[in-house]
Amino acid sequence: MCPRPAVSSPYIALSHGHMDHVGGLPYYFSQRIFQQIGTGRCVCHPDLAPALSTMMAAWGDIEAQRTPHEIIPLAPDEQIEIKNNVFLRAIEVSHTVPSLGFAVIERRSKLKEEFLGLPQERLRELKSQGVEITRRLEIPLVAYTGDTELGPYLYREEFAKATIVICECTFFEPEHRSRAAIGKHLHVVDIVRLLDVWESQAVVLIHLSRRTNLPEARRQLTDLVGEEQSARVHFLMDYRNNRQRYEQQLLEAGDPA
Ligand SMILES: [Zn+2]
Ligand SMILES: [Zn+2]
Repeated sequence: MCPRPAVSSPYIALSHGHMDHVGGLPYYFSQRIFQQIGTGRCVCHPDLAPALSTMMAAWGDIEAQRTPHEIIPLAPDEQIEIKNNVFLRAIEVSHTVPSLGFAVIERRSKLKEEFLGLPQERLRELKSQGVEITRRLEIPLVAYTGDTELGPYLYREEFAKATIVICECTFFEPEHRSRAAIGKHLHVVDIVRLLDVWESQAVVLIHLSRRTNLPEARRQLTDLVGEEQSARVHFLMDYRNNRQRYEQQLLEAGDPA
């Protein structure tokens, strides 16, 4: 799907080529042009890039016009700068087709410890002598798992240290563990292990199977990890609670809206 807020994003980070992920892509490209906000760019696994070009060529035939678009293959562990000092990095995960997770990483430079407290003048002097006075810090802002089974890649720094992790979790019922394994998806028992490692303020669960009963899923999670851990986990499709929380945040921020 291509929800309206997605159209304003200059980049799409596409995890893999299953229809439930890629179906909205041609519409995204087309809306970018229609609204005159610049050619859309889709970052994807290099194995998927040729097929996406073929798909867009087919849309050209269907609509009898070509929609400008940009497909950017990004190999695992490569990154591109999407804003000044902000990078999108591809992280290979494991699904039934080539699949990527992503991390948005801010790069900051920080004064090295041994130079802390020195006057500006001295620092300028050192710098002019070619001394490296800063070190580079990488701050993962958001990490996204894509569709994946559990694996060591989900324990990487980009996930462990991210402020927000967006995580697929397709199955909750105990009897669905084998279905999760066959489809190479995450099951709530995998989330339990990851919550121990991920330090994020919030974990947003997406991709729940359509039959999942939300209150029941919440109960399963809370039974497994306790109230405190459960409180930092949000379900993307829990519209009612998400709206309430959002309105509460607006209120706390003093927004009259
Ligand atoms: Zn998939
Ligand atoms: Zn999927």
